[in-house]
Amino acid sequence: MVGISFGSFLNVVADRVPQRKSIVSPPSHCFQCGHPLESRDLVPVLSYIILRGKCRYCGAAIPLRSMLVELITGLLFVLAWAVLGPQWQLPIVLLYMCILIVLSITDLEGGIIPGIIIYPAVGITLIITAVKILTGLSPDIISASIGLASGFGLFFLIWCIARLFKKEVIGFGDVVMGGLIGIMVGFPLVMAAIYLAVLTGGLMAIVLVILGLRKFTEPVPFALFLALGTVVALLWGGEITVLISLLVP
Ligand SMILES: [Zn+2]
Repeated sequence: MVGISFGSFLNVVADRVPQRKSIVSPPSHCFQCGHPLESRDLVPVLSYIILRGKCRYCGAAIPLRSMLVELITGLLFVLAWAVLGPQWQLPIVLLYMCILIVLSITDLEGGIIPGIIIYPAVGITLIITAVKILTGLSPDIISASIGLASGFGLFFLIWCIARLFKKEVIGFGDVVMGGLIGIMVGFPLVMAAIYLAVLTGGLMAIVLVILGLRKFTEPVPFALFLALGTVVALLWGGEITVLISLLVP
């Protein structure tokens, strides 16, 4: 229930922040008719089902995405609780998940990673990491710094090469996001997260091309897959680190 409520808030952030709109006023309203929504229209997930996905006042379709984000956020919160349990890392992982969800929405729908979201996210993550290092909690400063440098560096390299050939393979937002996840999970987990992102993103792209749902040259919403890889690294970091130490002597 907490996760679903957060998902509801993340929808508002993803819709309004990139447009420089306030997240508190005006209160929620129908996108079509502008009618203010009452509390009975704003119960996450349930209102959508009861109203059968239509505005109570004008009948316009409510974006399905709102409910999907609420559901996915709720499920991810449950998953984090199930994997990590009640420990000090849980709220940090939940916050990171929220940041990754918002970035995934904006990249999926607008094809961009807005600076107004990613830069504050980097700031918050840096502060949390600094506090973790200063208080002696993990990750250590070397892991975090190499994570930041390698995550940012890898995508910066791709970005530079792509610009050399005048191709827009990835945006600069992806480069910053590489750095962001590098701080979040540290090194070498950031490499595992990127590897998973390339693997799942590539597979998905190929499947969609085969099914005729996507042209080969169309860009892939890479932030979504980076987010996916990062969530896996956040939840199963310990196991992945053991796996890496076995594979890389
Ligand atoms: Zn309406």
